[in-house]
Amino acid sequence: MKSEELFNESKKFLPGGVDSPVRAYKPYPFFAEYAKGSKIVDVDGKSYIDYCLAYGPMVLGHANPDVMAEVITQLKRGSAYGVPTENEIELAKLVVKKVPCAEMIRFVNSGTEATMSAIRLARAATDKKKIIKFEGAYHGAHDYVLVKSGSGAAGLPDSPGVPEETTKNTILVPFNNEDALVDLINTESDSIAAIIVEPIMGNIGIIPPMDKYLEFLRDITTENDIILIFDEVITGFRIAEGGAQEYFGVTPDLVTFGKILGGGFPIGALAGKKELMEMLAPSGTVYQAGTFNGNPISIAAGLAMLKQLNKSFYSVMNTKGDILRRGIQDILDVHNLDYHVAGLSSMFQIYFTDKEVWNYDDAKTADTEKFIIFFQTLLNKGVFIPPSQFECCFVSLMHNDNDLEQTLTTIDKGMKTIKTL
Ligand SMILES: *Cc1c(COP(=O)(O)O)cnc(C)c1O
Repeated sequence: MKSEELFNESKKFLPGGVDSPVRAYKPYPFFAEYAKGSKIVDVDGKSYIDYCLAYGPMVLGHANPDVMAEVITQLKRGSAYGVPTENEIELAKLVVKKVPCAEMIRFVNSGTEATMSAIRLARAATDKKKIIKFEGAYHGAHDYVLVKSGSGAAGLPDSPGVPEETTKNTILVPFNNEDALVDLINTESDSIAAIIVEPIMGNIGIIPPMDKYLEFLRDITTENDIILIFDEVITGFRIAEGGAQEYFGVTPDLVTFGKILGGGFPIGALAGKKELMEMLAPSGTVYQAGTFNGNPISIAAGLAMLKQLNKSFYSVMNTKGDILRRGIQDILDVHNLDYHVAGLSSMFQIYFTDKEVWNYDDAKTADTEKFIIFFQTLLNKGVFIPPSQFECCFVSLMHNDNDLEQTLTTIDKGMKTIKTL
Protein backbone atom coordinates (compact mmCIF):
# COMPACT_ATOMS: atom_id res chain seq x y z
CA MET A 1 0.00 0.00 0.00
CA LYS A 2 1.44 3.30 -1.07
CA SER A 3 -0.31 5.18 1.78
CA GLU A 4 1.41 2.95 4.33
CA GLU A 5 4.82 3.53 2.74
CA LEU A 6 4.22 7.28 2.60
CA PHE A 7 3.14 7.32 6.23
CA ASN A 8 6.29 5.50 7.33
CA GLU A 9 8.35 8.00 5.36
CA SER A 10 6.32 10.95 6.62
CA LYS A 11 6.86 9.99 10.28
CA LYS A 12 10.58 10.60 9.79
CA PHE A 13 10.01 14.24 8.84
CA LEU A 14 6.64 15.32 10.25
CA PRO A 15 5.81 14.69 13.93
CA GLY A 16 3.41 11.75 13.95
CA GLY A 17 3.44 11.78 10.16
CA VAL A 18 0.76 14.49 9.89
CA ASP A 19 0.36 18.26 10.20
CA SER A 20 -2.71 18.21 12.47
CA PRO A 21 -3.30 15.56 15.15
CA VAL A 22 -6.76 14.27 14.26
CA ARG A 23 -5.48 13.17 10.83
CA ALA A 24 -3.39 10.35 12.31
CA TYR A 25 -5.32 7.13 12.89
CA LYS A 26 -4.34 3.50 13.11
CA PRO A 27 -2.82 1.70 11.36
CA TYR A 28 -2.07 4.56 8.93
CA PRO A 29 -4.09 7.34 7.30
CA PHE A 30 -4.73 7.21 3.56
CA PHE A 31 -2.83 9.81 1.56
CA ALA A 32 -4.87 11.83 -0.91
CA GLU A 33 -4.21 11.83 -4.64
CA TYR A 34 -7.13 14.07 -5.63
CA ALA A 35 -10.73 14.88 -4.76
CA LYS A 36 -13.74 15.78 -6.88
CA GLY A 37 -17.37 16.38 -5.90
CA SER A 38 -18.41 13.98 -3.14
CA LYS A 39 -15.36 11.74 -3.55
CA ILE A 40 -11.78 11.69 -2.34
CA VAL A 41 -9.32 9.29 -3.98
CA ASP A 42 -6.20 7.95 -2.29
CA VAL A 43 -2.73 7.29 -3.72
CA ASP A 44 -3.62 3.62 -4.19
CA GLY A 45 -6.53 4.60 -6.44
CA LYS A 46 -9.27 3.78 -3.92
CA SER A 47 -12.24 6.15 -3.91
CA TYR A 48 -14.19 7.15 -0.80
CA ILE A 49 -17.49 8.97 -0.39
CA ASP A 50 -16.23 11.85 1.73
CA TYR A 51 -18.09 13.00 4.86
CA CYS A 52 -15.02 14.62 6.39
CA LEU A 53 -14.81 17.21 3.61
CA ALA A 54 -11.60 18.73 4.99
CA TYR A 55 -13.33 19.06 8.39
CA GLY A 56 -15.94 21.45 7.08
CA PRO A 57 -14.97 23.86 4.32
CA MET A 58 -16.11 21.91 1.25
CA VAL A 59 -19.91 22.47 1.36
CA LEU A 60 -20.11 22.47 -2.44
CA GLY A 61 -18.00 19.32 -2.68
CA HIS A 62 -14.40 19.17 -3.83
CA ALA A 63 -13.08 21.20 -6.76
CA ASN A 64 -16.22 23.27 -7.36
CA PRO A 65 -15.91 24.55 -10.96
CA ASP A 66 -16.85 28.20 -10.20
CA VAL A 67 -14.46 28.41 -7.26
CA MET A 68 -11.66 26.86 -9.30
CA ALA A 69 -12.26 29.25 -12.21
CA GLU A 70 -12.12 32.33 -9.94
CA VAL A 71 -9.00 31.05 -8.22
CA ILE A 72 -7.21 30.43 -11.52
CA THR A 73 -8.14 33.91 -12.73
CA GLN A 74 -6.79 35.41 -9.52
CA LEU A 75 -3.62 33.27 -9.57
CA LYS A 76 -2.67 34.75 -12.91
CA ARG A 77 -2.83 38.19 -11.33
CA GLY A 78 -0.65 37.23 -8.39
CA SER A 79 -1.17 35.36 -5.15
CA ALA A 80 -0.27 37.89 -2.43
CA TYR A 81 0.23 41.64 -2.49
CA GLY A 82 0.44 43.09 1.00
CA VAL A 83 -1.82 45.91 -0.19
CA PRO A 84 -5.63 46.05 -0.13
CA THR A 85 -7.83 44.82 -2.97
CA GLU A 86 -11.36 45.55 -4.14
CA ASN A 87 -12.41 41.93 -3.63
CA GLU A 88 -11.89 42.29 0.13
CA ILE A 89 -14.62 44.93 0.13
CA GLU A 90 -16.85 42.67 -1.97
CA LEU A 91 -16.51 39.74 0.39
CA ALA A 92 -16.93 42.02 3.42
CA LYS A 93 -20.17 43.40 1.94
CA LEU A 94 -21.46 39.92 1.26
CA VAL A 95 -20.77 38.80 4.84
CA VAL A 96 -22.35 41.98 6.26
CA LYS A 97 -25.44 41.36 4.13
CA LYS A 98 -25.78 37.74 5.19
CA VAL A 99 -24.80 37.79 8.87
CA PRO A 100 -27.00 39.66 11.40
CA CYS A 101 -24.27 40.81 13.85
CA ALA A 102 -21.71 41.71 11.16
CA GLU A 103 -21.26 45.42 10.46
CA MET A 104 -17.51 45.24 9.88
CA ILE A 105 -15.06 42.39 9.39
CA ARG A 106 -11.33 41.63 9.73
CA PHE A 107 -10.03 38.81 7.53
CA VAL A 108 -7.32 36.62 9.07
CA ASN A 109 -5.87 33.23 8.12
CA SER A 110 -7.48 30.65 10.37
CA GLY A 111 -10.24 30.07 12.86
CA THR A 112 -7.57 29.96 15.56
CA GLU A 113 -6.44 33.49 14.78
CA ALA A 114 -10.03 34.65 14.60
CA THR A 115 -10.96 33.50 18.12
CA MET A 116 -7.65 34.70 19.55
CA SER A 117 -8.25 38.16 18.12
CA ALA A 118 -11.93 38.25 19.10
CA ILE A 119 -11.02 37.43 22.70
CA ARG A 120 -8.34 40.13 22.77
CA LEU A 121 -10.84 42.62 21.38
CA ALA A 122 -13.47 41.64 23.96
CA ARG A 123 -10.95 42.04 26.78
CA ALA A 124 -9.92 45.44 25.50
CA ALA A 125 -13.52 46.60 25.03
CA THR A 126 -14.62 45.61 28.53
CA ASP A 127 -11.32 46.24 30.32
CA LYS A 128 -11.80 42.82 31.98
CA LYS A 129 -9.63 39.71 31.86
CA LYS A 130 -11.56 36.48 32.28
CA ILE A 131 -13.39 34.56 29.61
CA ILE A 132 -15.93 31.77 29.88
CA LYS A 133 -15.80 28.79 27.55
CA PHE A 134 -17.81 25.61 27.51
CA GLU A 135 -16.44 22.17 28.34
CA GLY A 136 -15.71 20.34 25.12
CA ALA A 137 -15.85 23.46 22.97
CA TYR A 138 -12.99 23.91 20.53
CA HIS A 139 -11.92 27.39 19.48
CA GLY A 140 -8.60 26.59 17.87
CA ALA A 141 -5.15 25.69 19.14
CA HIS A 142 -4.05 28.84 21.00
CA ASP A 143 -3.34 29.14 24.71
CA TYR A 144 -6.44 31.06 25.91
CA VAL A 145 -8.83 28.33 24.85
CA LEU A 146 -6.83 25.10 25.05
CA VAL A 147 -8.61 23.95 28.18
CA LYS A 148 -10.94 20.96 28.02
CA SER A 149 -11.49 21.51 24.32
CA GLY A 150 -13.05 19.04 21.92
CA SER A 151 -12.06 16.93 18.90
CA GLY A 152 -8.34 16.19 18.71
CA ALA A 153 -7.73 17.57 22.18
CA ALA A 154 -10.70 15.92 23.90
CA GLY A 155 -9.59 13.61 26.65
CA LEU A 156 -6.05 14.91 26.65
CA PRO A 157 -4.81 16.81 29.67
CA ASP A 158 -4.22 20.50 29.06
CA SER A 159 -1.32 20.74 26.68
CA PRO A 160 2.16 21.09 28.16
CA GLY A 161 3.55 24.48 27.25
CA VAL A 162 0.33 26.34 28.03
CA PRO A 163 1.12 28.48 31.10
CA GLU A 164 -1.26 28.35 34.04
CA GLU A 165 -1.15 32.13 34.03
CA THR A 166 -2.93 32.10 30.68
CA THR A 167 -5.58 29.50 31.36
CA LYS A 168 -6.42 30.67 34.86
CA ASN A 169 -8.40 33.40 33.15
CA THR A 170 -10.40 30.85 31.19
CA ILE A 171 -13.35 29.55 33.18
CA LEU A 172 -15.13 26.37 32.12
CA VAL A 173 -18.83 25.70 32.40
CA PRO A 174 -21.03 22.86 31.13
CA PHE A 175 -23.05 23.61 27.97
CA ASN A 176 -26.84 23.80 28.19
CA ASN A 177 -26.79 24.39 31.96
CA GLU A 178 -28.25 27.75 32.98
CA ASP A 179 -27.73 27.36 36.73
CA ALA A 180 -23.99 26.76 36.43
CA LEU A 181 -23.58 29.97 34.48
CA VAL A 182 -25.83 32.06 36.72
CA ASP A 183 -23.85 30.98 39.81
CA LEU A 184 -20.58 31.81 38.14
CA ILE A 185 -21.63 35.20 36.84
CA ASN A 186 -23.13 36.15 40.20
CA THR A 187 -19.71 35.83 41.79
CA GLU A 188 -17.46 36.88 38.90
CA SER A 189 -19.33 39.31 36.65
CA ASP A 190 -16.91 42.14 37.40
CA SER A 191 -14.03 40.21 35.91
CA ILE A 192 -15.62 38.46 32.91
CA ALA A 193 -14.90 40.00 29.51
CA ALA A 194 -16.53 37.47 27.22
CA ILE A 195 -18.42 34.26 26.78
CA ILE A 196 -17.25 32.36 23.73
CA VAL A 197 -19.58 29.66 22.47
CA GLU A 198 -20.07 27.37 19.51
CA PRO A 199 -23.84 27.93 19.08
CA ILE A 200 -24.03 24.29 17.97
CA MET A 201 -21.12 22.40 19.48
CA GLY A 202 -19.31 20.69 16.64
CA ASN A 203 -16.06 19.46 18.12
CA ILE A 204 -17.40 16.97 20.63
CA GLY A 205 -19.71 15.27 18.16
CA ILE A 206 -22.68 17.57 17.62
CA ILE A 207 -24.61 19.13 20.46
CA PRO A 208 -27.39 21.59 19.68
CA PRO A 209 -28.37 24.26 22.18
CA MET A 210 -31.45 23.51 24.25
CA ASP A 211 -34.56 25.54 23.52
CA LYS A 212 -33.97 29.20 24.58
CA TYR A 213 -30.42 28.54 25.80
CA LEU A 214 -28.81 30.96 23.33
CA GLU A 215 -31.40 33.61 24.26
CA PHE A 216 -30.41 33.03 27.87
CA LEU A 217 -26.74 33.60 26.97
CA ARG A 218 -27.68 36.78 25.11
CA ASP A 219 -29.65 38.15 28.08
CA ILE A 220 -27.15 37.32 30.80
CA THR A 221 -24.24 38.80 28.84
CA THR A 222 -26.13 42.00 28.04
CA GLU A 223 -27.10 42.46 31.69
CA ASN A 224 -23.53 41.99 32.90
CA ASP A 225 -21.51 43.96 30.34
CA ILE A 226 -20.03 40.76 28.92
CA ILE A 227 -19.25 40.39 25.21
CA LEU A 228 -21.01 37.43 23.59
CA ILE A 229 -18.84 35.76 20.94
CA PHE A 230 -20.39 33.15 18.66
CA ASP A 231 -17.67 30.94 17.25
CA GLU A 232 -19.29 30.09 13.92
CA VAL A 233 -16.18 28.61 12.33
CA ILE A 234 -18.29 25.49 11.63
CA THR A 235 -21.86 26.81 11.57
CA GLY A 236 -21.12 30.00 9.62
CA PHE A 237 -22.64 29.82 6.11
CA ARG A 238 -23.44 26.16 6.85
CA ILE A 239 -26.82 25.98 8.52
CA ALA A 240 -28.28 29.22 7.12
CA GLU A 241 -27.01 32.15 5.07
CA GLY A 242 -26.49 34.05 8.32
CA GLY A 243 -25.25 31.01 10.27
CA ALA A 244 -26.51 29.89 13.68
CA GLN A 245 -27.37 33.46 14.68
CA GLU A 246 -29.93 33.62 11.89
CA TYR A 247 -31.07 30.03 12.41
CA PHE A 248 -31.75 30.55 16.13
CA GLY A 249 -32.58 34.25 15.94
CA VAL A 250 -29.98 35.33 18.52
CA THR A 251 -27.49 38.05 17.60
CA PRO A 252 -24.08 38.02 19.34
CA ASP A 253 -21.70 40.98 19.69
CA LEU A 254 -18.88 39.30 17.78
CA VAL A 255 -18.67 36.32 15.47
CA THR A 256 -15.70 34.28 14.28
CA PHE A 257 -15.50 32.48 10.95
CA GLY A 258 -13.12 30.12 9.17
CA LYS A 259 -13.60 26.94 7.16
CA ILE A 260 -16.39 27.66 4.58
CA LEU A 261 -15.59 31.39 4.32
CA GLY A 262 -12.39 30.64 2.35
CA GLY A 263 -14.07 28.47 -0.28
CA GLY A 264 -11.58 25.70 0.46
CA PHE A 265 -8.58 27.98 1.00
CA PRO A 266 -7.06 29.12 4.32
CA ILE A 267 -9.01 31.90 5.98
CA GLY A 268 -10.52 33.14 9.21
CA ALA A 269 -12.41 36.28 10.16
CA LEU A 270 -13.93 38.15 13.04
CA ALA A 271 -16.90 40.40 12.55
CA GLY A 272 -19.31 42.37 14.68
CA LYS A 273 -20.68 45.71 15.64
CA LYS A 274 -18.94 48.72 14.19
CA GLU A 275 -17.98 50.32 17.49
CA LEU A 276 -16.27 47.12 18.58
CA MET A 277 -14.56 46.37 15.29
CA GLU A 278 -13.21 49.89 14.98
CA MET A 279 -11.19 49.28 18.11
CA LEU A 280 -8.88 47.13 15.96
CA ALA A 281 -5.66 48.70 14.68
CA PRO A 282 -5.20 50.83 12.67
CA SER A 283 -8.55 52.56 13.37
CA GLY A 284 -8.15 51.65 17.05
CA THR A 285 -5.43 50.42 19.37
CA VAL A 286 -6.15 46.67 19.70
CA TYR A 287 -3.37 45.02 17.76
CA GLN A 288 -4.17 42.48 15.09
CA ALA A 289 -2.09 41.87 11.97
CA GLY A 290 -1.10 39.24 9.42
CA THR A 291 1.09 38.96 6.32
CA PHE A 292 -1.55 36.88 4.54
CA ASN A 293 -4.65 38.59 6.00
CA GLY A 294 -7.17 39.09 3.22
CA ASN A 295 -5.11 36.91 0.88
CA PRO A 296 -6.44 37.45 -2.67
CA ILE A 297 -6.68 33.72 -3.47
CA SER A 298 -8.68 32.90 -0.34
CA ILE A 299 -10.86 35.97 -0.85
CA ALA A 300 -11.58 35.07 -4.50
CA ALA A 301 -12.42 31.50 -3.52
CA GLY A 302 -14.61 32.67 -0.62
CA LEU A 303 -16.52 35.06 -2.85
CA ALA A 304 -17.09 32.37 -5.48
CA MET A 305 -18.31 29.97 -2.77
CA LEU A 306 -20.56 32.36 -0.85
CA LYS A 307 -22.29 33.57 -4.02
CA GLN A 308 -23.54 30.01 -4.54
CA LEU A 309 -24.99 29.64 -1.03
CA ASN A 310 -28.55 30.90 -1.39
CA LYS A 311 -31.81 29.91 0.33
CA SER A 312 -32.48 26.91 -1.90
CA PHE A 313 -28.97 25.59 -1.19
CA TYR A 314 -29.85 25.32 2.51
CA SER A 315 -33.10 23.48 1.92
CA VAL A 316 -31.32 20.97 -0.33
CA MET A 317 -28.64 20.46 2.34
CA ASN A 318 -31.32 19.93 5.01
CA THR A 319 -32.97 17.27 2.87
CA LYS A 320 -29.69 15.40 2.37
CA GLY A 321 -28.95 15.55 6.09
CA ASP A 322 -32.45 14.33 6.94
CA ILE A 323 -32.17 11.38 4.55
CA LEU A 324 -28.96 10.29 6.27
CA ARG A 325 -30.13 10.88 9.85
CA ARG A 326 -33.45 9.10 9.25
CA GLY A 327 -31.76 6.26 7.38
CA ILE A 328 -29.24 5.77 10.19
CA GLN A 329 -32.00 5.79 12.82
CA ASP A 330 -33.87 3.10 10.85
CA ILE A 331 -30.71 0.98 10.70
CA LEU A 332 -30.21 1.34 14.46
CA ASP A 333 -33.84 0.36 15.06
CA VAL A 334 -33.58 -2.72 12.85
CA HIS A 335 -30.47 -3.86 14.72
CA ASN A 336 -31.94 -2.98 18.08
CA LEU A 337 -29.05 -0.67 18.89
CA ASP A 338 -29.80 2.29 21.15
CA TYR A 339 -27.05 4.61 19.90
CA HIS A 340 -27.88 8.22 19.38
CA VAL A 341 -28.11 9.99 16.00
CA ALA A 342 -27.23 13.65 16.39
CA GLY A 343 -27.14 16.65 14.10
CA LEU A 344 -29.09 19.07 12.02
CA SER A 345 -28.88 20.52 8.54
CA SER A 346 -25.73 19.17 6.84
CA MET A 347 -24.13 18.00 10.11
CA PHE A 348 -24.47 14.52 11.61
CA GLN A 349 -22.83 12.08 13.95
CA ILE A 350 -23.66 8.80 15.65
CA TYR A 351 -22.88 8.75 19.37
CA PHE A 352 -22.08 5.25 20.54
CA THR A 353 -24.00 5.73 23.76
CA ASP A 354 -27.59 5.19 24.87
CA LYS A 355 -27.54 8.53 26.66
CA GLU A 356 -28.98 11.69 25.17
CA VAL A 357 -26.10 14.08 24.60
CA TRP A 358 -26.48 17.66 25.85
CA ASN A 359 -22.98 18.39 27.14
CA TYR A 360 -19.38 17.22 27.34
CA ASP A 361 -19.98 14.69 30.13
CA ASP A 362 -22.83 13.08 28.18
CA ALA A 363 -20.66 12.90 25.05
CA LYS A 364 -17.86 11.27 27.01
CA THR A 365 -20.10 8.29 27.82
CA ALA A 366 -19.71 7.21 24.17
CA ASP A 367 -17.81 4.01 23.46
CA THR A 368 -14.88 5.32 21.42
CA GLU A 369 -13.47 1.84 20.77
CA LYS A 370 -16.68 0.79 19.07
CA PHE A 371 -16.66 4.02 17.11
CA ILE A 372 -13.18 3.31 15.76
CA ILE A 373 -14.16 -0.19 14.66
CA PHE A 374 -17.20 1.33 12.93
CA PHE A 375 -14.98 3.96 11.31
CA GLN A 376 -12.56 1.28 10.04
CA THR A 377 -15.42 -0.82 8.62
CA LEU A 378 -16.75 2.18 6.71
CA LEU A 379 -13.29 3.14 5.50
CA ASN A 380 -12.62 -0.36 4.15
CA LYS A 381 -15.88 -0.19 2.24
CA GLY A 382 -15.22 3.23 0.73
CA VAL A 383 -16.94 5.67 3.10
CA PHE A 384 -14.73 8.23 4.84
CA ILE A 385 -15.98 9.86 8.02
CA PRO A 386 -13.68 11.80 10.40
CA PRO A 387 -11.69 9.31 12.48
CA SER A 388 -12.99 10.49 15.86
CA GLN A 389 -16.23 10.05 17.78
CA PHE A 390 -15.90 13.70 18.73
CA GLU A 391 -15.75 15.17 15.24
CA CYS A 392 -18.72 16.00 13.12
CA CYS A 393 -19.65 14.44 9.75
CA PHE A 394 -20.65 16.73 6.91
CA VAL A 395 -22.61 16.24 3.73
CA SER A 396 -22.00 18.37 0.63
CA LEU A 397 -24.19 19.57 -2.22
CA MET A 398 -22.48 16.99 -4.45
CA HIS A 399 -23.60 13.98 -2.42
CA ASN A 400 -26.31 12.55 -4.69
CA ASP A 401 -29.01 10.00 -3.91
CA ASN A 402 -26.75 7.23 -5.08
CA ASP A 403 -24.01 8.29 -2.65
CA LEU A 404 -26.46 8.54 0.22
CA GLU A 405 -27.98 5.12 -0.51
CA GLN A 406 -24.57 3.48 -0.81
CA THR A 407 -23.55 5.14 2.45
CA LEU A 408 -26.59 3.83 4.31
CA THR A 409 -25.93 0.31 2.99
CA THR A 410 -22.37 0.61 4.26
CA ILE A 411 -23.47 1.96 7.64
CA ASP A 412 -25.79 -1.02 7.90
CA LYS A 413 -22.79 -3.32 7.41
CA GLY A 414 -20.83 -1.28 9.96
CA MET A 415 -23.57 -1.71 12.55
CA LYS A 416 -23.75 -5.45 11.85
CA THR A 417 -20.04 -5.63 12.62
CA ILE A 418 -20.53 -3.69 15.84
CA LYS A 419 -23.35 -6.03 16.89
CA THR A 420 -21.14 -9.09 16.63
CA LEU A 421 -18.54 -7.64 19.03
C1 LIG B 1 -11.97 24.43 13.26
C2 LIG B 1 -12.42 25.32 14.34
C3 LIG B 1 -11.62 26.36 14.84
C4 LIG B 1 -10.20 26.55 14.41
O1 LIG B 1 -10.09 26.89 13.08
P1 LIG B 1 -8.67 26.65 12.34
O2 LIG B 1 -8.87 27.27 11.00
O3 LIG B 1 -8.48 25.17 12.30
O4 LIG B 1 -7.65 27.33 13.15
C5 LIG B 1 -12.18 27.24 15.75
N1 LIG B 1 -13.43 27.09 16.18
C6 LIG B 1 -14.23 26.09 15.75
C7 LIG B 1 -15.63 26.02 16.24
C8 LIG B 1 -13.75 25.17 14.84
O5 LIG B 1 -14.52 24.16 14.44
